[in-house]
Amino acid sequence: MLSKRLEQLAEYLQNPIHFADIGSDHAYLPCYVCSRHERATAIAGEVNQGPFERAKKTVREHELSDRIEVRKGNGLDVIKEKEVNQITIAGMGGKLIRTILEEGQAKLSGVSRLILQPNIDAQLVRKWLIEHHYKIVAEEIIAEDGYIYEVIVSDYRKEPLHLSEHELLFGPYLLQEKSDVFLKKWFHEKEKRSKLINQMKQATILPVEKIKKLETEMEWIEEVIE
Ligand code: SAM
Repeated sequence: MLSKRLEQLAEYLQNPIHFADIGSDHAYLPCYVCSRHERATAIAGEVNQGPFERAKKTVREHELSDRIEVRKGNGLDVIKEKEVNQITIAGMGGKLIRTILEEGQAKLSGVSRLILQPNIDAQLVRKWLIEHHYKIVAEEIIAEDGYIYEVIVSDYRKEPLHLSEHELLFGPYLLQEKSDVFLKKWFHEKEKRSKLINQMKQATILPVEKIKKLETEMEWIEEVIE
Protein backbone atom coordinates (compact mmCIF):
# COMPACT_ATOMS: atom_id res chain seq x y z
CA MET A 1 0.00 0.00 0.00
CA LEU A 2 1.26 3.46 -0.90
CA SER A 3 1.93 5.92 1.93
CA LYS A 4 -0.68 8.62 2.55
CA ARG A 5 2.08 11.13 1.78
CA LEU A 6 2.76 9.77 -1.74
CA GLU A 7 -0.97 9.27 -2.38
CA GLN A 8 -1.45 12.94 -1.65
CA LEU A 9 1.21 13.87 -4.22
CA ALA A 10 -0.43 11.64 -6.82
CA GLU A 11 -3.77 13.42 -6.31
CA TYR A 12 -2.28 16.62 -7.68
CA LEU A 13 -1.00 15.25 -11.00
CA GLN A 14 -3.07 16.61 -13.88
CA ASN A 15 -4.12 14.84 -17.07
CA PRO A 16 -2.40 14.24 -19.42
CA ILE A 17 0.15 12.80 -16.98
CA HIS A 18 3.72 12.64 -18.26
CA PHE A 19 5.80 13.16 -15.17
CA ALA A 20 9.27 12.69 -13.73
CA ASP A 21 9.67 11.48 -10.16
CA ILE A 22 13.12 12.60 -9.06
CA GLY A 23 14.69 10.61 -6.23
CA SER A 24 12.11 7.89 -6.84
CA ASP A 25 13.77 5.17 -4.70
CA HIS A 26 11.44 2.15 -5.15
CA ALA A 27 9.47 3.95 -7.90
CA TYR A 28 6.34 3.39 -5.83
CA LEU A 29 4.81 6.70 -6.92
CA PRO A 30 5.25 6.20 -10.71
CA CYS A 31 3.94 2.61 -10.42
CA TYR A 32 0.91 3.72 -8.40
CA VAL A 33 0.07 6.53 -10.84
CA CYS A 34 0.61 4.49 -14.02
CA SER A 35 -1.45 1.59 -12.62
CA ARG A 36 -4.39 3.93 -12.04
CA HIS A 37 -4.12 5.99 -15.23
CA GLU A 38 -3.71 3.88 -18.31
CA ARG A 39 -2.36 6.70 -20.46
CA ALA A 40 0.09 8.07 -17.89
CA THR A 41 3.83 7.82 -18.50
CA ALA A 42 6.67 8.44 -16.06
CA ILE A 43 10.40 8.71 -15.68
CA ALA A 44 11.77 7.53 -12.35
CA GLY A 45 15.09 9.29 -11.69
CA GLU A 46 17.62 8.02 -9.16
CA VAL A 47 21.18 9.08 -8.46
CA ASN A 48 22.15 6.07 -6.32
CA GLN A 49 22.70 2.52 -7.57
CA GLY A 50 20.72 0.71 -4.82
CA PRO A 51 17.50 2.73 -5.23
CA PHE A 52 17.98 2.69 -9.04
CA GLU A 53 17.99 -1.14 -8.99
CA ARG A 54 15.01 -1.17 -6.60
CA ALA A 55 13.06 1.14 -8.91
CA LYS A 56 13.74 -1.10 -11.93
CA LYS A 57 12.57 -4.14 -9.93
CA THR A 58 9.27 -2.52 -8.87
CA VAL A 59 8.55 -1.38 -12.44
CA ARG A 60 9.26 -4.91 -13.77
CA GLU A 61 7.06 -6.49 -11.09
CA HIS A 62 4.19 -4.15 -12.01
CA GLU A 63 4.75 -4.89 -15.72
CA LEU A 64 4.92 -1.18 -16.44
CA SER A 65 8.24 -1.04 -18.31
CA ASP A 66 6.43 0.19 -21.45
CA ARG A 67 5.28 3.36 -19.64
CA ILE A 68 7.84 3.93 -16.87
CA GLU A 69 11.50 4.46 -17.68
CA VAL A 70 13.96 4.23 -14.82
CA ARG A 71 16.98 6.44 -15.42
CA LYS A 72 20.13 6.89 -13.37
CA GLY A 73 21.49 10.39 -12.84
CA ASN A 74 21.62 13.49 -10.72
CA GLY A 75 18.41 15.51 -10.32
CA LEU A 76 16.87 16.77 -13.55
CA ASP A 77 19.84 15.52 -15.65
CA VAL A 78 17.74 12.41 -16.32
CA ILE A 79 15.11 14.29 -18.33
CA LYS A 80 15.25 16.03 -21.68
CA GLU A 81 13.65 19.41 -22.30
CA LYS A 82 9.86 19.17 -22.93
CA GLU A 83 9.85 15.43 -22.16
CA VAL A 84 7.57 15.75 -19.12
CA ASN A 85 4.83 18.20 -18.13
CA GLN A 86 5.03 17.68 -14.35
CA ILE A 87 7.71 16.84 -11.81
CA THR A 88 7.46 15.32 -8.34
CA ILE A 89 10.30 15.49 -5.81
CA ALA A 90 9.54 14.02 -2.39
CA GLY A 91 11.19 12.86 0.80
CA MET A 92 14.25 15.13 0.71
CA GLY A 93 15.30 18.26 2.54
CA GLY A 94 14.25 21.63 1.15
CA LYS A 95 17.87 22.57 0.42
CA LEU A 96 18.40 19.53 -1.81
CA ILE A 97 15.09 20.09 -3.62
CA ARG A 98 16.10 23.70 -4.23
CA THR A 99 19.51 22.62 -5.57
CA ILE A 100 17.90 20.07 -7.90
CA LEU A 101 15.53 22.73 -9.28
CA GLU A 102 18.23 25.38 -9.52
CA GLU A 103 20.72 23.12 -11.32
CA GLY A 104 18.02 21.73 -13.60
CA GLN A 105 16.35 25.02 -14.58
CA ALA A 106 17.04 24.47 -18.28
CA LYS A 107 14.83 21.34 -18.15
CA LEU A 108 11.83 23.17 -16.72
CA SER A 109 10.51 24.73 -19.91
CA GLY A 110 7.28 22.89 -20.62
CA VAL A 111 6.89 21.81 -16.99
CA SER A 112 3.59 23.33 -15.90
CA ARG A 113 3.41 21.81 -12.43
CA LEU A 114 5.92 21.01 -9.67
CA ILE A 115 4.69 18.86 -6.77
CA LEU A 116 7.22 18.96 -3.96
CA GLN A 117 7.41 17.41 -0.52
CA PRO A 118 10.33 18.79 1.48
CA ASN A 119 10.96 17.00 4.80
CA ILE A 120 12.44 20.18 6.29
CA ASP A 121 13.14 23.79 5.21
CA ALA A 122 9.95 24.16 3.14
CA GLN A 123 10.43 27.95 3.18
CA LEU A 124 13.55 27.59 0.96
CA VAL A 125 11.46 25.72 -1.59
CA ARG A 126 8.64 28.31 -1.49
CA LYS A 127 11.14 31.12 -1.98
CA TRP A 128 12.73 29.38 -4.98
CA LEU A 129 9.30 28.72 -6.50
CA ILE A 130 8.05 32.30 -6.38
CA GLU A 131 11.39 33.62 -7.62
CA HIS A 132 11.08 31.32 -10.65
CA HIS A 133 7.43 32.03 -11.52
CA TYR A 134 5.88 28.96 -9.90
CA LYS A 135 2.73 30.03 -8.08
CA ILE A 136 1.76 27.92 -5.09
CA VAL A 137 -1.75 26.68 -5.88
CA ALA A 138 -2.27 24.17 -3.07
CA GLU A 139 -0.59 22.86 0.05
CA GLU A 140 -1.15 19.88 2.34
CA ILE A 141 0.16 19.02 5.76
CA ILE A 142 0.00 15.36 6.75
CA ALA A 143 0.88 13.39 9.87
CA GLU A 144 2.05 9.84 9.19
CA ASP A 145 4.11 7.35 11.22
CA GLY A 146 5.04 10.00 13.77
CA TYR A 147 6.28 12.52 11.20
CA ILE A 148 4.68 15.63 9.76
CA TYR A 149 5.02 16.26 6.01
CA GLU A 150 4.23 19.27 3.86
CA VAL A 151 3.26 19.00 0.20
CA ILE A 152 3.58 22.07 -2.04
CA VAL A 153 1.86 22.20 -5.43
CA SER A 154 2.93 24.96 -7.80
CA ASP A 155 2.05 25.97 -11.36
CA TYR A 156 4.08 28.02 -13.80
CA ARG A 157 2.82 31.58 -14.32
CA LYS A 158 4.18 34.36 -16.52
CA GLU A 159 3.50 37.19 -14.08
CA PRO A 160 5.81 38.11 -11.15
CA LEU A 161 4.82 36.48 -7.85
CA HIS A 162 5.14 37.48 -4.21
CA LEU A 163 4.82 35.88 -0.77
CA SER A 164 5.34 37.60 2.58
CA GLU A 165 8.01 36.33 5.01
CA HIS A 166 5.20 34.77 7.08
CA GLU A 167 3.76 32.97 4.06
CA LEU A 168 7.20 31.70 3.06
CA LEU A 169 7.75 30.18 6.49
CA PHE A 170 4.30 28.78 7.23
CA GLY A 171 2.89 28.30 3.73
CA PRO A 172 0.14 30.58 2.38
CA TYR A 173 -2.62 27.93 2.40
CA LEU A 174 -1.48 26.12 5.53
CA LEU A 175 -1.41 29.45 7.37
CA GLN A 176 -5.02 30.19 6.41
CA GLU A 177 -6.20 26.71 7.28
CA LYS A 178 -4.31 26.27 10.60
CA SER A 179 -5.20 22.59 10.86
CA ASP A 180 -4.47 20.58 14.03
CA VAL A 181 -1.43 19.00 12.33
CA PHE A 182 -0.14 22.47 11.41
CA LEU A 183 -0.56 23.70 15.01
CA LYS A 184 1.22 20.58 16.31
CA LYS A 185 4.11 21.08 13.90
CA TRP A 186 4.63 24.72 14.85
CA PHE A 187 4.33 24.02 18.57
CA HIS A 188 7.29 21.61 18.15
CA GLU A 189 9.13 24.07 15.90
CA LYS A 190 8.83 26.72 18.63
CA GLU A 191 10.29 24.31 21.22
CA LYS A 192 13.13 23.44 18.83
CA ARG A 193 13.98 27.10 18.31
CA SER A 194 13.87 27.79 22.04
CA LYS A 195 16.35 24.93 22.73
CA LEU A 196 18.59 26.11 19.90
CA ILE A 197 18.66 29.67 21.25
CA ASN A 198 19.61 28.39 24.73
CA GLN A 199 22.43 26.31 23.23
CA MET A 200 23.67 29.24 21.15
CA LYS A 201 23.74 31.47 24.21
CA GLN A 202 26.30 29.12 25.83
CA ALA A 203 28.76 29.69 22.96
CA THR A 204 31.90 31.77 23.61
CA ILE A 205 31.28 33.85 20.52
CA LEU A 206 27.56 34.63 20.42
CA PRO A 207 25.97 34.05 16.97
CA VAL A 208 23.96 37.25 17.44
CA GLU A 209 22.34 37.38 14.00
CA LYS A 210 21.25 33.72 14.11
CA ILE A 211 19.75 34.21 17.59
CA LYS A 212 17.90 37.33 16.41
CA LYS A 213 16.44 35.46 13.42
CA LEU A 214 15.30 32.56 15.61
CA GLU A 215 13.78 34.93 18.16
CA THR A 216 11.84 36.74 15.42
CA GLU A 217 10.56 33.42 14.08
CA MET A 218 9.53 32.41 17.61
CA GLU A 219 7.47 35.60 17.89
CA TRP A 220 5.79 34.82 14.54
CA ILE A 221 5.08 31.24 15.65
CA GLU A 222 3.56 32.46 18.93
CA GLU A 223 1.28 34.86 17.01
CA VAL A 224 0.22 32.08 14.64
CA ILE A 225 -0.44 29.28 17.13
CA GLU A 226 -2.10 31.34 19.85
N1 SAM B 1 10.75 9.99 -3.30
C1 SAM B 1 10.66 8.80 -2.45
C2 SAM B 1 9.69 9.05 -1.33
O1 SAM B 1 9.31 10.20 -1.09
O2 SAM B 1 9.30 8.08 -0.66
C3 SAM B 1 12.02 8.43 -1.91
C4 SAM B 1 12.60 9.39 -0.93
S1 SAM B 1 14.21 8.89 -0.42
C5 SAM B 1 14.25 9.39 1.23
C6 SAM B 1 15.25 10.05 -1.26
C7 SAM B 1 15.79 9.46 -2.56
O3 SAM B 1 16.34 10.50 -3.32
C8 SAM B 1 16.86 8.44 -2.34
O4 SAM B 1 16.53 7.24 -2.98
C9 SAM B 1 18.12 9.08 -2.95
O5 SAM B 1 18.96 8.14 -3.58
C10 SAM B 1 17.51 10.04 -3.96
N2 SAM B 1 18.31 11.22 -4.28
C11 SAM B 1 19.02 12.02 -3.42
N3 SAM B 1 19.61 13.02 -4.08
C12 SAM B 1 19.26 12.88 -5.39
C13 SAM B 1 19.56 13.60 -6.58
N4 SAM B 1 20.35 14.68 -6.55
N5 SAM B 1 19.06 13.16 -7.74
C14 SAM B 1 18.26 12.06 -7.79
N6 SAM B 1 17.95 11.34 -6.70
C15 SAM B 1 18.43 11.74 -5.53
